Amino acid sequence: MKINLVRPCAFCPGVERVVQKTKEIIADYKSAHIYLIGNIVHNDELCKQLLKNKNVKILENKNHDRLALVKSIKTNNNVIIFSAHGTDPRAVDFAVAKGWKVFDLTCPWVNRIFSKIRYAILHGYHVAYFGDKNHVEAIAAKGHGGNDLTIYKTKKDLKKVLDKPYVQVVAQTTMDQQEYIATQKWFTPPAIIKFADTICHSSRQRQENALEAKQYDLVFVISDPNSHNGQSLYQVLKARQKHVVFVDPQHIKLNKKILAKKKDCAIFTSSSVSQEQVDRFVKKLNKLI
Ligand code: SF4
Repeated sequence: MKINLVRPCAFCPGVERVVQKTKEIIADYKSAHIYLIGNIVHNDELCKQLLKNKNVKILENKNHDRLALVKSIKTNNNVIIFSAHGTDPRAVDFAVAKGWKVFDLTCPWVNRIFSKIRYAILHGYHVAYFGDKNHVEAIAAKGHGGNDLTIYKTKKDLKKVLDKPYVQVVAQTTMDQQEYIATQKWFTPPAIIKFADTICHSSRQRQENALEAKQYDLVFVISDPNSHNGQSLYQVLKARQKHVVFVDPQHIKLNKKILAKKKDCAIFTSSSVSQEQVDRFVKKLNKLI
């Protein structure tokens, strides 16, 4: 069976940056308490590796309330690292005011959206944010936009937005591009509406690869189950390919039966999967074919 590794694969530049930077900070601040506010990226295995450093803690709560997490810190000599997904600016302000060493590693693509949100609100616009209301990035965006921002996924969510005179529409960086475009018909005049193309380059490229891919006998999507872009990729591929298998890199289960009579396969990855995890999967696959 021929294995096609679809590129880009493994870390996107934003995740690469946050992982490298976090490792450098851990090496530089050996005697400090280091707090990662939320999982630094959606890669459970990588987070567990970082936790092998005794002075590193990951703080997380189920509603991703970053301010509450930072407020819960009781130690001194702290280093605070905010994840690539962005954060409520009040959490950063709180940590800075405490005099702690703060590293805000928000991806530049996410920061670009936050700037757009603040700029639009400053100019009298209401912001309609196409995203998943439980996702860390969307919660952070809400922290920037407050009551002037509405997160939507369905037309019903826009009920209170459609009577606003000025509306700026943006999308979470990892949303499905086609779905986002389709929602644009929900916005109708007399409102003045501005749409911004805010899905990040890496997510867009992976989605386009999935949309344009030829038919393979078998497709694997390697992704942490909590990765939003990995789940989006899986859905796009599932709708188009014959046989798609979701692979959690921490628990690779390969059944020889699914490989039978397959002439070719393609491997797609989310942007928070490491090259090491991809290589491990390919090695296992090669042993079976
Ligand atoms: S997926 Fe996009 S927004 Fe998220 S870290 Fe990577 S480049 Fe940044």
